[in-house]
Amino acid sequence: MSVNQQAHTGPPYGQPQPGYQGYQQPAYGGQPLPGVPQSQYGAYNGPMPGYQQPVPPQGSLRAPPTSGAPPPASATSLPSSHLAYGQFGHGDVQNGIPASAAPMQRPPASQPFLPGSAPTPVSQTSTFQQYGPPPASVQQLSNHMAGMTIGSTTASAPPPAGLGYGPPTSIPPVSGSLSATGSGLYTPYTASQGPPPTSVSQGLPLAQPPFPGQPISTQRLPTQVPGFAPPPSSTGIGPSSYPPTTGAPRPPTMPGPPLPGQMVAGPPTSQPNHVSSPPPPSATSGPHPGPPMSGLHGPPPPTHPPQPGYQMQQNGSYGQVRGPQPNYGGAYPGTPNYGSQPGQPPPPKRLDPDSIPSPIQVIEDDRSNRGSEPFVTGVRGQVPPLVTTNFLVKDQGNASPRYIRCTSYNIPCTSDMAKQSQVPLAAVIKPLATLPPEETLPYLVDHGESGPVRCNRCKAYMCPFMQFIEGGRRFQCCFCSCVTEVPPHYFQHLDHTGKRVDFYDRPELSMGSYEFLATVDYCKNNKFPSPPAFIFMIDVSYNAVKSGLVRLICEELKSLLDYLPREGNMEESAIRVGFVTYNKVLHFYNVKSSLAQPQMMVVSDVADMFVPLLDGFLVNVNESRTVIASLLDQIPEMFADTRETETVFAPVIQAGLEALKAAECAGKLFIFHTSLPIAEAPGKLKNRDDKKLINTDKEKTLFQPQTNFYNNLAKDCVAQGCCVDLFLFPNQYLDVATLGVVTYQTGGSIYKYAYFQLEIDQDRFLNDLRRDVQKEVGFDAVMRVRTSTGIRATDFFGAFYMSNTTDVEMAGLDCDKTITVEFKHDDKLSEDSGALLQCALLYTSCAGQRRLRIHNLSLNCCTQLADLYRNCETDTLINYLAKYAYRGVLGSPVKTVRDALINQCAQILACYRKNCASPSSAGQLILPECMKLLPVYLNCVLKSDVLQPGLEVTTDDRAYIRQLVTSMDVAETNVFFYPRLLPLTKADVDSDSLPAAIRNSEERLSKGDMYLLENGLNIFVWVGVNVQQGLIQNLFGVSSFSQISNASNTLPVLENPFSKKVRSIVDMLQVQRSRYMKLIIVKQEDKLEMLFKHFLVEDKSLSGGASYVDFLCHMHKEIRQLLS
Ligand SMILES: [Zn+2]
Repeated sequence: MSVNQQAHTGPPYGQPQPGYQGYQQPAYGGQPLPGVPQSQYGAYNGPMPGYQQPVPPQGSLRAPPTSGAPPPASATSLPSSHLAYGQFGHGDVQNGIPASAAPMQRPPASQPFLPGSAPTPVSQTSTFQQYGPPPASVQQLSNHMAGMTIGSTTASAPPPAGLGYGPPTSIPPVSGSLSATGSGLYTPYTASQGPPPTSVSQGLPLAQPPFPGQPISTQRLPTQVPGFAPPPSSTGIGPSSYPPTTGAPRPPTMPGPPLPGQMVAGPPTSQPNHVSSPPPPSATSGPHPGPPMSGLHGPPPPTHPPQPGYQMQQNGSYGQVRGPQPNYGGAYPGTPNYGSQPGQPPPPKRLDPDSIPSPIQVIEDDRSNRGSEPFVTGVRGQVPPLVTTNFLVKDQGNASPRYIRCTSYNIPCTSDMAKQSQVPLAAVIKPLATLPPEETLPYLVDHGESGPVRCNRCKAYMCPFMQFIEGGRRFQCCFCSCVTEVPPHYFQHLDHTGKRVDFYDRPELSMGSYEFLATVDYCKNNKFPSPPAFIFMIDVSYNAVKSGLVRLICEELKSLLDYLPREGNMEESAIRVGFVTYNKVLHFYNVKSSLAQPQMMVVSDVADMFVPLLDGFLVNVNESRTVIASLLDQIPEMFADTRETETVFAPVIQAGLEALKAAECAGKLFIFHTSLPIAEAPGKLKNRDDKKLINTDKEKTLFQPQTNFYNNLAKDCVAQGCCVDLFLFPNQYLDVATLGVVTYQTGGSIYKYAYFQLEIDQDRFLNDLRRDVQKEVGFDAVMRVRTSTGIRATDFFGAFYMSNTTDVEMAGLDCDKTITVEFKHDDKLSEDSGALLQCALLYTSCAGQRRLRIHNLSLNCCTQLADLYRNCETDTLINYLAKYAYRGVLGSPVKTVRDALINQCAQILACYRKNCASPSSAGQLILPECMKLLPVYLNCVLKSDVLQPGLEVTTDDRAYIRQLVTSMDVAETNVFFYPRLLPLTKADVDSDSLPAAIRNSEERLSKGDMYLLENGLNIFVWVGVNVQQGLIQNLFGVSSFSQISNASNTLPVLENPFSKKVRSIVDMLQVQRSRYMKLIIVKQEDKLEMLFKHFLVEDKSLSGGASYVDFLCHMHKEIRQLLS
């Protein structure tokens, strides 16, 4: 029986949740917040531009924390950036039917939102920007639909050549495949596109000269190449194996200290590995002494290499044959010699890394093919552009991929097919995702006192897929087929096509994402909520004080409190604030506005926490401004001489929880904590770190909390809407796995600054804190995903709490948090009706308004496995697999988890090979076009610190990363597992664009260049030993390589184009990420380089992780075993 059709304990949001019982709410919030402006999120503008700016030296008072959200002097003086979010036109509520005459106060939707994007055509924007059919909108829509139809009915698509290795212009025109609205290079990615996979295996002609006859997207490994194995363990590639046709002299490998004259301009793909590797067996690649190349004029970046690998391809297989490689040190020593012919001792050969699928190439191809056109969501089952492509989204009936991404946009009709393929069916949902200013936030719809119109049976919300019948008097539910009466106030006539005539006037009928104003029925205990509160809880034990942390936090809060989240054009935030400090005891502060000085109340009985004051603890910032400022001045002085080193932790959360309970509101605790809580108190912990457990059956205990106490506390917090954000500053093990439990289950965020040093880490911490305090967050959130008959949501991954099998509860849900949902079949699906998802999030806004945010998505269904494989999204697949594996380590040995991952992916690829690829190519590795990066990305997950830790990785690091990844969106997991590596010395100082990324392998690095590597948590700047002195001077302000200090976490501000360019790149990356990345300067051959090399994920890792080439061979072997 479908969960959708179950008689639940009541409509999910229509009645008090069981967990909410006993919730008293007499005093606050009985009113529907008449003063709350209805326009949304004026105060939020995503990553604040202000964060880009370096923070002035410590101690000095900075400019206001962000330039992104200065408080408006009045409701009419919002910064223009706010208008982009003011989708209702200056904050007017949209009461169901927006006046189509009211123009939207926002820039044209067709503008690109990031530099580098080509301006998009203005066509099709009118229908998107406003409701009510604007002039010509029908025509535009028809044009658009026509374009889509062409794409979706011709069963054509970017042929493998287009997404393969050829340059974009090499896409062979496929008749009928180009969108009517597209440019010559744009090939729409509609549902049934893509060449039949069999043609992939047969090898399409390579459109790229000069090897027109070579198959390029045939993802094969040659069976006739026995022993890919033994490549040198150093990941170096024997120079002699490069065909002379690479056209340039090659430098030698570096058996010893590098010589200054050894950098030459060779083909990028053949740049030397800068570490020692076996001497070249061929005399043709001797040293080429000469002056060091200027980095800016060095060899071209290797992202578009001449691809010598193809020259020696045979039979469409991957890779060219290499010379003898005796010292094979891969992680899969069992792989040599598979496929060898009996009786024919083969010469050892190996794969050419340039001939196997390149993440960089796939990313670049998608950018050039799909970055120039907006992604219009009007068609079912469209695969969106990659997360690495900058594109605009136009909502025409399905949720933007910024809100929902799926592992596949074409779902097998039957459970058997799904099981056969082993492709997980999952959606990665980010309900409150930040949109670029050019896109429209979900409109707010008010259906009046009776609340949102819903299906009588499954309670799905009105959406574009509901079918109106009987002249509009009833509608049939697209999820459960139940027929429901249309409420009189909602009745509207249908046109000749059966569509309501107010279709375009109602977001809930024409758009994928929108919001409903919730009625009192959707509130706890049938009472409207109070505005939430923020409570700042500062550890004032010895370490926190001594490091300067306490003073830093207090100084920061003085200004940051003016930037609490505000709604729309509200002049001030509705959020109240409170303050607690603690070590072994807790100190509460009365900061009531009528007081001349703040008052401290100490609670030393931490065993039974209570809040010693109600009145004056949570206050309005403006009203209590002077008292708060006085308190924040006094706190560092009060504890300046403390000798207390022990802390409590659970009582701190309990105190915050009790305070919110007393105030009858939801809220967030910001806890700044330094040490393992060993003081006598509930939740006291002991140091149980033990790295000897790694690779044993007990390793899982390192990820488990050491006590259930925190799980129970988390449950209480969720019931109250008490979200816990945790800022950790450990100098040793503090058991992140246990301390993070409440944060994790309440939807909070965790930040860790190990060995916090004020001068080095304060920028990062303050930027994180500012963003965390200011970002959009919903409270008391409950999310449910409904599905059409045939599939249902069965599993959930993320930071939340679940008290039943369907509702995901989050005390707080911010704009960065992602929930991954897995679906399974419970019946057959049909190709005609497809599959529908509806994600409904009920939450309380920062002003205390109860709302429902609805995201709808329609997917195609298929009876042919080939259609499934043609419409997969590997980045999303990896997001799911990583989360699945990271949860698995809680219950299984890490090796078991790793093996299961490998096995599942082998099954996915074997099923493709067996059912979709040409039978003539038995024994060759054939990868589906959409999944050709699955092996390289999977290998990155397998090598990650959680699943295969390096020696330097601490237990806390692993627990921390495990927790972070669980809430990451697809873009974040993509760059986290396969970091972005940019050649800085190739950057065009006159352009805003980033230099083209290169693959994450040491052999791609040139010692005459500098590179930047980012993974969402760290930025490394790697400096080769042969970098030109002038460049070193320009970037670091020192005259030689040896003078570069890697103690600094910033680049000096120097007035020259190169310095400005590099710093602007760093700033640009910082803004794109949800956390401020730590900048680490790495000098080649310095000891820090080992840390850096850990992120060169295509190489063999020190902790035993396989190189990409070796892993691909291993996958091939696994697949062959499954097929035989
Ligand atoms: Zn229904």
